[in-house]
Amino acid sequence: MQVTSLASGSSGNALVVAHEGRALLVDCGVAPRRLAALLREAGTPPAELSAVLITHEHSDHIVGVNAIARGSEIPFYMSPGTRRANPFAGGAAVFASRPVVEQPVGSTRSIGPFEVTSFPVSHDGTEVCGYLIEAGGRAVAVFTDLGVAEPHLHEPLSRAELIVIEANHDEGLLWNGPYPWHLKRRVASPRGHLSNVACAELLCDTLPSDGREVWLAHLSRTNNRDQIASGAVRHAFHLYGMRDGAHTVRVMPAQGTTLRWQPSARQLALGI
Ligand SMILES: [Zn+2]
Ligand SMILES: [Zn+2]
Repeated sequence: MQVTSLASGSSGNALVVAHEGRALLVDCGVAPRRLAALLREAGTPPAELSAVLITHEHSDHIVGVNAIARGSEIPFYMSPGTRRANPFAGGAAVFASRPVVEQPVGSTRSIGPFEVTSFPVSHDGTEVCGYLIEAGGRAVAVFTDLGVAEPHLHEPLSRAELIVIEANHDEGLLWNGPYPWHLKRRVASPRGHLSNVACAELLCDTLPSDGREVWLAHLSRTNNRDQIASGAVRHAFHLYGMRDGAHTVRVMPAQGTTLRWQPSARQLALGI
């Protein structure tokens, strides 16, 4: 399995999970032409995708849907609520006349070599989900928009070797920052976005003692900094008694294909 970050943050979210020549795109929140270019850079031209998984209807997750040609057979998986939300982009309903597969939240679907399970998350969309994607004995968890770290997330996070998890804001930067009051309240609410500290606590409650890779996702450009987010997580690991470097922590770039993950040869040999 290989995972490539394409974009992360409120200006757009997308990543590719590839295995044995098949690939899934998780969210398509980058303008279509740019998204198509990023996909080619990642080694998966849009026409070669097996499916697109959608977490929810907010524009930073769906605005690039036309990177996949209209009329293509590539299916879009989403919750029934996300389909019902019927989002628009560029004046058109983005999922109209596209092959949509409704995946009830909490269920598992097989897509080629991938087993895809969706999990509910608390966020201000219609029926928002995160995903656990498994293939060839490996697993990646993708949870990018969630207001609160709920206990049912422990299972997918503990099973994944790569954890893509939101670290949206530093609480001090948010509350002292330039956002209007109502927007600060929205971001910090249980249906908003996960703070660095809440992300760090969730990881500490969930991860084994070592060997995981964590990608911090959906950082706010206004209310966060790469070093503050990764520092908060590393500090929490330290307080929980984990040794330095037990887990690899990286911040997803706002855009670009420089961040990739694949299981190490040693892990593959051990089959863990
Ligand atoms: Zn959202
Ligand atoms: Zn988002």
